[in-house]
Amino acid sequence: MSDDAPIFHPDAFQLSEREVELTDKVRKLGSETFAARADSYDAAAKFPAANYADLRESGLLGICIPTIYGGLGASYRAYALCAAEMGRYCGATALTWNMHVSSCLWTGELSDSLKMTVKERAQHEHLREGHYRRIISEGAVYSQPFSEVRDTETDGDPFKTTAMRVGENWQVTGRKIFASLSGHADYYGVLCTTVSADSDERSRRNTLYIAVPSHAAGVNVVGDWDPLGMRGTVSRTLVMDEVIVSAEEALMPMGLYYQAALRWPHMFLTLTPTYVGIAQAAMDFTVKYLRGELPGYGDAKHRRSAVKSSNVASMQIQLEQTKAVWFQAISEAQVDPSREQILRAYAVQYTVMENANELCQLAIRTCGGRSILKNLPLERFYRDSRCGSLMLPWTADACIERIGYDLLYGPSDRD
Ligand SMILES: Cc1cc2nc3c(=O)[nH]c(=O)nc-3n(C[C@H](O)[C@H](O)[C@H](O)COP(=O)(O)OP(=O)(O)OC[C@H]3O[C@@H](n4cnc5c(N)ncnc54)[C@H](O)[C@@H]3O)c2cc1C
Repeated sequence: MSDDAPIFHPDAFQLSEREVELTDKVRKLGSETFAARADSYDAAAKFPAANYADLRESGLLGICIPTIYGGLGASYRAYALCAAEMGRYCGATALTWNMHVSSCLWTGELSDSLKMTVKERAQHEHLREGHYRRIISEGAVYSQPFSEVRDTETDGDPFKTTAMRVGENWQVTGRKIFASLSGHADYYGVLCTTVSADSDERSRRNTLYIAVPSHAAGVNVVGDWDPLGMRGTVSRTLVMDEVIVSAEEALMPMGLYYQAALRWPHMFLTLTPTYVGIAQAAMDFTVKYLRGELPGYGDAKHRRSAVKSSNVASMQIQLEQTKAVWFQAISEAQVDPSREQILRAYAVQYTVMENANELCQLAIRTCGGRSILKNLPLERFYRDSRCGSLMLPWTADACIERIGYDLLYGPSDRD
């Protein structure tokens, strides 16, 4: 086991026994196995397939699947804490794992707290059991390609990907950009707007969340993938051309995703744990570097510099601030949060994504030229961290806009 201390100390943050057990498990896997592989996946922009074999083997693909279905039964918070530990060792694995685990959270803990008719709940129970069985018994991996090219910056527009009823099936057509795990997931959990042959009317309320099998006819992954950071996510474009998908592949009853997105906004915070981990990794690196503990990188002469000491203190302060607000937000995640909690969630998303990158850039400035060489991980942390603020629907700019608008306008205020 690595000697890395937990990011969130169990006593200080009063973690449950289960949270300690799970975070220890992920930290061990990350530090002993994923950290050493991260460089090659990044260099080649290749999907971390060996890490996924380990996730399968260790049961972590089923982390948020309830224990009655054979999963590890982790709550939203327990999962977030584990994903932060994973992000510390391999950002791309943690971020793609988030896409997979989200399919279990949307269908599991979240759905349980939402309004459904008795019939819908029974049907949902039946369908999710099938999805969970695949993950547990067959090691199936799900992804979450929701993003599309947008004509406007309006968040409430219906998804352009459509699903039309054809007998017992859906016919799905559309294009998803930045489809992480493309070519590697077994099922693509897409959002589409249901349409009918005799009406053009489209609404976000009619959003269907459905698993498109990756080998179905009409599914193609196109384009290349050579980005700045998060290179191992392999987020190419997913094209679905009149793909026939069984109605049994629904991940949620019709319209439930719309309710979930409105009533469980903290779900969109699940992209942040990866970046909490990267922020911690930049801190760990800087302290080791300045203490002369990295093999081949000299003695501890730099730590005698007052400015280095001051920089490292600033980093620690920024890291503690980030961890504190993040821990509060993931601890209070629930259905129907208050306005104050939603505002805090936006602020936390912004804080984590921006601070992770600021910490990395200060780490580079402080450690100096040799720290950006590719045989050290810091420059990867820096590139990966830059991607956090770009993730929709809560990009850094979108968070700023929402916070400002919400504070200055009441529900019926118009200028
Ligand atoms: C590494 C990586 C992996 C990803 N993986 C996935 C994935 O698995 N699934 C998935 O669905 N998506 C994924 N995404 C996509 C991501 O969530 C965004 O959809 C994508 O980055 C949008 O890029 P764009 O150029 O189309 O941005 P645009 O939507 O065109 O936005 C451009 C700019 O406008 C700003 N902006 C957009 N909307 C608003 C708003 N409402 N208010 C204020 N400003 C706004 C943004 O902040 C941004 O600066 C991934 C992205 C990256 C970088």
